[in-house]
Amino acid sequence: MNGVHEKGNDSPPDRLVDRSDRHLDYLRVSITDHCNLNCTYCLPFSSQFKQSHRDILRYEEILHLIQIFSDLGISKIRITGGEPLVRKEIFPFLTRLHEIRGIDDLAMTTNGLLLQDHLVKIKSAGIRRLNISLDSLNPENYHRITGHDVFQKVWEGILAAEKLGFHPIKINVVALRGINDHELTDMAKLSFSHPFHIRFIEYMPIGDSAMQPENPLFTKEIQERIASLGELYPIQREKMDGPARRFRFKNAIGEIGFISPISHHFCQTCNRLRLTASGFLRTCLLSDHQTDLKTPLRSGFSDQQIAHVILNAIRLKPTSHDLNSKQAAQIASPMSAIGG
Ligand code: SAM
Repeated sequence: MNGVHEKGNDSPPDRLVDRSDRHLDYLRVSITDHCNLNCTYCLPFSSQFKQSHRDILRYEEILHLIQIFSDLGISKIRITGGEPLVRKEIFPFLTRLHEIRGIDDLAMTTNGLLLQDHLVKIKSAGIRRLNISLDSLNPENYHRITGHDVFQKVWEGILAAEKLGFHPIKINVVALRGINDHELTDMAKLSFSHPFHIRFIEYMPIGDSAMQPENPLFTKEIQERIASLGELYPIQREKMDGPARRFRFKNAIGEIGFISPISHHFCQTCNRLRLTASGFLRTCLLSDHQTDLKTPLRSGFSDQQIAHVILNAIRLKPTSHDLNSKQAAQIASPMSAIGG
């Protein structure tokens, strides 16, 4: 999409490069804010935060926006939610998404509950890389965290995905003091028996969740907790790597990753944008600022006009988040609506 704008001092760039010269090529797309689990640290305290059907972008609309994003330079898409696999007719949508020119990497984040039923369709639709959230290996604790007694089903889904050749399978573990911190070593040990990438994520204070830890667990302490398993050797970063700092234990077949948005933020290399299920563009996970794309889309704006709205929005992408500052406002939108 060259030549969208006349270049001038006040003109936005015609590619997704922000004022800090960050090249934005990764779009995370939440296709629903509905979820089939109720993780205490993720969902709003009051009730499930659900948008009405009309507020949610139709698949046709999401594909249209993704084509515009792709023309502007997005090449990597992650489908997320809520729980993406609960949205009806997701597979024809994924197949069409896979065919969009310019998108060369398509991934999904899921809680894994519906994985087993749909793995073959997920693979046929062009998804090779899965991130699966698993905050406990203990069925009772899993039940306590998620509100559902379904650990076994999720675990069987993960093993079935491994058998079917999905690689890498990244296991996301949000480290929560007093909730799953006694299991961190067991989670890390999985990297000896499976080729999984076990990624420990620092809890982010987002939304009005039922759980607001007073004393969060940061990466340094997580590393100390799992040190009994041996020394961690750093792994060279690769092009498609996200924010995880990657390591491996000697003789392990999988990896260990640390995602440290609070203690070691990676804002200076952030290449991400987020499209919410209701059609808002968020340029930073840890800021409530968002730009409406649904209204322009539904009002008949041309692709060039929508591209202009997007390019203007990325000018406002924060240079870094301020969650560490004393004045930091907590993010009001629930994670289930933004997609993580
Ligand atoms: N339902 C899918 C799942 O469970 O993976 C996708 C959506 S979920 C919002 C995406 C990721 O965000 C999950 O790995 C979840 O653990 C993580 N997450 C949710 N709330 C979080 C928080 N407050 N801090 C850090 N990670 C969080």
